[in-house]
Amino acid sequence: TVVIEGAVKRFGDLEVLKGVSLTIPSGSVTVIIGQSGSGKSTLLRTINHLEPLNAGLISIDGKLIGYREDANILHELKEAEVLRRRVDVGMVFQSFNLFPHMTVLENIVEAPVHVRGRPRAEAEADARVLLTRVGLSDKVDAYPRQLSGGQQQRVAIARALALRPKVLLFDEPTSALDPELVGEVLGVIRELASSGTTLIIVTHEMGFAREVADTVVFMDQGRIVERGTPEQVFSRPVHPRTAEFLSKVL
Ligand code: ATP
Ligand code: MG
Repeated sequence: TVVIEGAVKRFGDLEVLKGVSLTIPSGSVTVIIGQSGSGKSTLLRTINHLEPLNAGLISIDGKLIGYREDANILHELKEAEVLRRRVDVGMVFQSFNLFPHMTVLENIVEAPVHVRGRPRAEAEADARVLLTRVGLSDKVDAYPRQLSGGQQQRVAIARALALRPKVLLFDEPTSALDPELVGEVLGVIRELASSGTTLIIVTHEMGFAREVADTVVFMDQGRIVERGTPEQVFSRPVHPRTAEFLSKVL
């Protein structure tokens, strides 16, 4: 379970998260929607420890992961412990971010071997299973430049899964893809969702959100203004800002 409590994030004078609280039960799928600039990516980045909070806390299964820069929580934890906790959170970005000079297999085993200290043979066997799961068992030795965008993104998902994260974050995983490649990536995410992986997904694919989400969260100007089942949020939004947003995107 991921618990976000009163998360505040400022960049200089700009308050980008204005006290966000959200509980994400293990095994559930949460989809975050909202206008450009509403703070969706920033929220994911605080969960993934890429950005410190100015106030509030984030924990996974009772262990702090999001931290306040002023609270010195980081200094109370051993650096190795911070790294280990960060590995509990996987992230898949819009722009794949594969290592271009490494094969698909090397991309996937890099972190398990060097961060987790897993034996290479074991990590490679695991990587092959994951590649089969994302439909790319024949691309083990390919380089990223030899793959389509959809294939690269599926490798990125396999790479994130290889660290056995407790929660996997997706930030607009299909926005950089040609339309005909969107479906194959959504298919992989759909399969993860039905197999009980805890997922937090920022997406503009409203049809997919409706289909895959247990909870839909609508963010507006750094706040969660509405949350509910897809049926509640898409069909009977309570907040006028939600209705306004949906009227533009649906
Ligand atoms: P989009 O749908 O366009 O991806 P978003 O909801 O993901 O938007 P964020 O990227 O979280 O929005 O940005 C929220 C606000 O924070 C924006 O006004 C953005 O300019 C600002 N912001 C984000 N990162 C930084 C940064 N590193 N420094 C300064 N301002 C930032
Ligand atoms: Mg964003």
